[in-house]
Amino acid sequence: MPYDLEELEKFRLSGRILREAREEMRSYIKENMSVLEVCERAETLIRAKGGFPAFPCNVSINEVTAHYTSPPNDTSVIPAGSTVKIDMGVQVDGYVTDTAFTVAFNPEGRNMTATAELALKTVIDNIHDDMSTGHIGGIIETVIRNHGFKPISNLTGHSVGRYLIHAGTSIPNVASLAANKVCVGDVFAVEPFVTHYDALARVDDSPQTTIFRMVRAKSVKTAYAKQMLKYIETSFRTLPFAERWLTNIVPKQHHAEAFKELLQSKIVTSYPVFIEASRRPVAQAEHTLLIKKDGCEVLT
Ligand code: MN
Ligand code: MN
Repeated sequence: MPYDLEELEKFRLSGRILREAREEMRSYIKENMSVLEVCERAETLIRAKGGFPAFPCNVSINEVTAHYTSPPNDTSVIPAGSTVKIDMGVQVDGYVTDTAFTVAFNPEGRNMTATAELALKTVIDNIHDDMSTGHIGGIIETVIRNHGFKPISNLTGHSVGRYLIHAGTSIPNVASLAANKVCVGDVFAVEPFVTHYDALARVDDSPQTTIFRMVRAKSVKTAYAKQMLKYIETSFRTLPFAERWLTNIVPKQHHAEAFKELLQSKIVTSYPVFIEASRRPVAQAEHTLLIKKDGCEVLT
């Protein structure tokens, strides 16, 4: 077993906080709502329940597939008739759980959402110790294609760990020959993404970046960059963060230059926003699972 009982209890607590926050968010999301308000609401709920956001709340709308969180002073709103993916994470003492759901304000989006949820449920009902990750991808792809849609081929689920969102093993969303196995005691996030049958069904990087992560600690030149880096190291360690989480860390007039210095010195890296290559809307569902001998425990 890679995790002892005490560690598993921390994963369970992390998952419980995340599940409660997610269910409150599910009924909260409305058309024309401010995206920034949605992000802050999710993160506030997580903190109020005793967890920490493991990454900024992602609000990815229509063809924007993943990795969008509100930049500082974001004025965007949830468009009427859109398909909105909310992806949230919690860490408790570093133990990460990850979940996502979709709210669709249009009939086809609701169909894609139901299909993503069914693909996820089918994995939950069938997964067990020693199953290959390629086989899991096959389960996901079969359900999605049987419903007349396509899975996004270049986004995957992933093992999670302590202070790690992506702990090394991927779970594809399409059938593959990947021979990695899931084993008793492993913790995995499984996340099918569903799009139109005639879409390219893969994501491209957009030039926009809204989520960041510290990748190395090395010395920086200016005092303000130093101060900002220290805050990042203590508050987020190696976990992703949003620029809006850094407001008031250094005097306002020095924020932009300090943040730029951390990016340019490659101490902090950024994640591009992912967009479906043919600009088709995408739905997503995600849970974090603890693998058992004959099945799994849904932590979220
Ligand atoms: Mn996620
Ligand atoms: Mn994930």
